[in-house]
Amino acid sequence: MKSTLILAAALASFAVQAQAQTAPTPRAAADEIATKKGPLTVQPITHGSVVFTWGGKTIYVDPYGGAAAYAGLAAPDVILITDIHGDHLDPKTLAGLSVGKALMVVPQAVADMLPAQYKAQVRILSNGQQLDTLGLKVAAVPMYNLPEAADAMHPKGRGNGYVLTLGGKNVYLSGDTEDIAEMRALKGIDVAFVCMNLPYTMDVNQAAQGVLAFKPGIVYPYHYRGQNGLSDVAAFKKTVNTANKKIDVRLRNWYPAAQ
Ligand code: ZN
Repeated sequence: MKSTLILAAALASFAVQAQAQTAPTPRAAADEIATKKGPLTVQPITHGSVVFTWGGKTIYVDPYGGAAAYAGLAAPDVILITDIHGDHLDPKTLAGLSVGKALMVVPQAVADMLPAQYKAQVRILSNGQQLDTLGLKVAAVPMYNLPEAADAMHPKGRGNGYVLTLGGKNVYLSGDTEDIAEMRALKGIDVAFVCMNLPYTMDVNQAAQGVLAFKPGIVYPYHYRGQNGLSDVAAFKKTVNTANKKIDVRLRNWYPAAQ
């Protein structure tokens, strides 16, 4: 009897361990957005990182937070990195991913800090430049703090926001920015990912005013963990939709591991 109990306990313990090892990393559900050339899959990962799948190609944005967060996703064909800070350029996460075939699109400051092993696969874009690859267009746009200052956390010209054009849809990734004139002047954005966290970027009201200026079809608040915890993204949605009901504000859990 006693030995049966011990065996049962051992088996139960083994089952728990096995489950812990194979349990998938928690992730918000992916969205599908129609384009002229098939669906664009939007998979939130964490903080400023998102994975897109479109036309059989996979695009990682600012891979961060450990390779396990990307388990089960296809290896990237393109990696976009916005800036030099550890929540955007994360060599440890890159090292744990299969990035061998990926084109890494980065600003010069990121290229300067990337491990040498990636040199051959880096393509540098400065604000205002763009490239075409694998049927999609990648344009680098400014991201910076206001007022402009050389010693700002994000000085103008160092980092890149990006506008991806795929299958006739324009997808904007803000990077770490405030509601700069270049954001407010964006035209024809179908899907936007907009940061909102203090003291690094902007508060939810500032983000809402910026978004109301360029009127994307869909907006995802992302990169919203600040010094005092998570920003009030529900307040962001309310402010946007009180002024403009047509903007589809999509609240997703970008911090699943924290729960
Ligand atoms: Zn950041």
